[in-house]
Amino acid sequence: MRVKVAIDLALDRLFDYEVPVALQKKLAVGQLLSVPFGHREARGFAMAVTGAEVSVGPPPPHGDFKLKPVAAIVDETPFFSLPLLELVKRVAGYTSAPVESVLKAAVPAAVLKKNARPRELMFIEPALAALPVSVTKRQQWLYDQIVRLGGGWMSELCRELRTTPATIRELGLKGLVTVAVRARRRDPLGGRKVLPSKPLGLNDEQRAALTAVETGGKPVLLFGVTGSGKTEVYLQAIAGELAADRGAIVMVPEISLTPQTVQRFAARFGDRVAVLHSALSDGERYDEWHRIRSGAARVVVGPRSAVWAPVKNLGLIVVDEEHESSYKQEDTPRYHARDVAVLRGAIEGAKVVLGSATPSLESWMNVKKGKYALAELKRRAGAGTMPAVSLVEMTGGSIYSRELLEAVRIRLDRGEQTILLLNRRGYARSVECEGCGYVFECPECSLPYTYHRADSCLRCHVCGGWASGPSCCPKCRRRVLDFIGVGTQRAEAALAKCFPRARILRMDADSTSRKNSHDDILSAFRSGEADILLGTQMIAKGLDFPNVTLVGVLNADSSLRMAGSDFRAAERTFQLISQVAGRAGRAALPGEVIVQSRDVSVAVIRLAARGDYGAFAAEELKAREECFLPPHCHFAVIGMKSKNAAAVGEWAEMYAASLRQLGDVKVSGAMPCALEKADGWYRWQITLRSERASAICRAWRWISSVRPVPKGVRASLDMDAFNLV
Ligand code: ADP
Ligand code: ZN
Repeated sequence: MRVKVAIDLALDRLFDYEVPVALQKKLAVGQLLSVPFGHREARGFAMAVTGAEVSVGPPPPHGDFKLKPVAAIVDETPFFSLPLLELVKRVAGYTSAPVESVLKAAVPAAVLKKNARPRELMFIEPALAALPVSVTKRQQWLYDQIVRLGGGWMSELCRELRTTPATIRELGLKGLVTVAVRARRRDPLGGRKVLPSKPLGLNDEQRAALTAVETGGKPVLLFGVTGSGKTEVYLQAIAGELAADRGAIVMVPEISLTPQTVQRFAARFGDRVAVLHSALSDGERYDEWHRIRSGAARVVVGPRSAVWAPVKNLGLIVVDEEHESSYKQEDTPRYHARDVAVLRGAIEGAKVVLGSATPSLESWMNVKKGKYALAELKRRAGAGTMPAVSLVEMTGGSIYSRELLEAVRIRLDRGEQTILLLNRRGYARSVECEGCGYVFECPECSLPYTYHRADSCLRCHVCGGWASGPSCCPKCRRRVLDFIGVGTQRAEAALAKCFPRARILRMDADSTSRKNSHDDILSAFRSGEADILLGTQMIAKGLDFPNVTLVGVLNADSSLRMAGSDFRAAERTFQLISQVAGRAGRAALPGEVIVQSRDVSVAVIRLAARGDYGAFAAEELKAREECFLPPHCHFAVIGMKSKNAAAVGEWAEMYAASLRQLGDVKVSGAMPCALEKADGWYRWQITLRSERASAICRAWRWISSVRPVPKGVRASLDMDAFNLV
């Protein structure tokens, strides 16, 4: 009997081992094994077992080569069920990632650490029948107290009864109590008391949505505005699964995985909820994961990695805010957790619900094609109305309009709070005319060119087309400028000048580089330590501030003008404006939203201000179709990097030229990334587009096997890429 083992070496191959007779009965696929590897012991997962009856099987494939035996089974309970292992393999194939890397992503490191184990502490229980022994008065009192409490953990009993472990052990020696080691759960909620909540009576739309989810068969896209009661639908769908003895996974973007979110699930399902997220200690993560695997916890709440949770008898997967780009993992394996959820649902026969107020165009098209069912929630379920949204056209170079400044002043007078948002992303620079605002675009793709200073070239990061840097505007003949937009610091300075006494907090990549400062800034704002919060995209998500009654977007169209390398710019802008509109006025106070834009006639800005997702999606899908962009195709990026500028360029050119001969994949020219150099690495990219992901996978496998990159150059494939810089 032989076993194929995946060892975490990123070699993308499995290793064969002989299974010793003593282990043959116990060994199972999905278990963690200990095996000899070179001169050391390694750990790996059993992927497949072959040749149960060795004597009649064919001779070993390597002639007289003798396989080494498995040293031990680390844990007899498999880490991966058969369906989960199937999912791992499919995701490895789809993302062109080594299967070990997917296995590694699927189990928390805290669980696999060699010294990871449950926390074991002394537990005291009163003995059943206390023997008639002579005790002191004090001992008798202690014994009575322990009986009254029904026992407890040593440290807590000592604190409560003001005594010492030695004293309690003496009671043990006299046979009055038993002292034994027990595993004590490291609880992420820290034993915090959560008030139980009861199911709410659903409104008609919610009831229809719940029925659609319960019907199953297809994934359901739950399209509902912020506050429309999607979470209540999730909760009741999960309750139904639990009643049928099935489990559930709830995925939320990391940024909205706040204690409030977790508590909503804990309030309904108590101890049956396990939480997995990056802020847990290793011990907490170890315990939560084991509670899931053992079946003690049936509902898992977590970020994208929760899609791999070993939930027994999985009945339902919820992906909340399914459009969020944080579901895409940006290093190997580059999976998209929403897509993995849909695949897992199909493999395990579990229902899947994807919730959003602004669905991704990928999911929306799946509804149009009949692959997903649609359920809509059009009204807010609880208190609060949708805020009034107004558009203000910006002229000249000012950052703030008179309308917005007046609205801020009113909030300052009333003691209410304001959020101001600067729509701005990283590195990409576009070129625009100072005079008429003309933006230089790729004629093929109608997307702003990205300006590369190094060789003053304009490049399209979709098709690889380029033009030499212009000296004047083709429309008005004036001088042109490379443009990266207004920075938060400048916006803050200008604001402070208008309102010298206002307390302003700024949040951007600079102010949040310290650990925790993100949370620090938000809690300072929440507790009223500032009047105005000014920041980039990162303040738009998942935040609920009861005293905020005004939200201003300073430059709504700016990412449309500058995101040369991002064909999702319009989609992201729509999401951003809808999100901030959903933020204001959720509590008792009515909200107002002011959206500033240099061009208010841009369709996405107008439609976002009106909240017309359907019209936006129709228009954007058409535009993407004309340029052969997702969701009408799969879009993958081959990224190459090297410390040697010449080598990476040559290799990228060669890859692009070779791949172009294949024919069934649309291949761009090789080009430097918008972010040309990072951490001392020179970066290049090639984009691949095809209706079939398998054609892209095949092309990648072919090129990386016939032309493996040399030492010093790294190449990777990002299937369905999100981050294009
Ligand atoms: P979403 O998840 O869509 O943003 P929530 O589930 O958070 O919306 O609901 C918003 C508010 O409406 C919450 O305070 C919730 O308690 C309340 N709510 C949800 N459903 C109902 C209902 N059927 N009746 C009354 N209030 C509801
Ligand atoms: Zn182009």
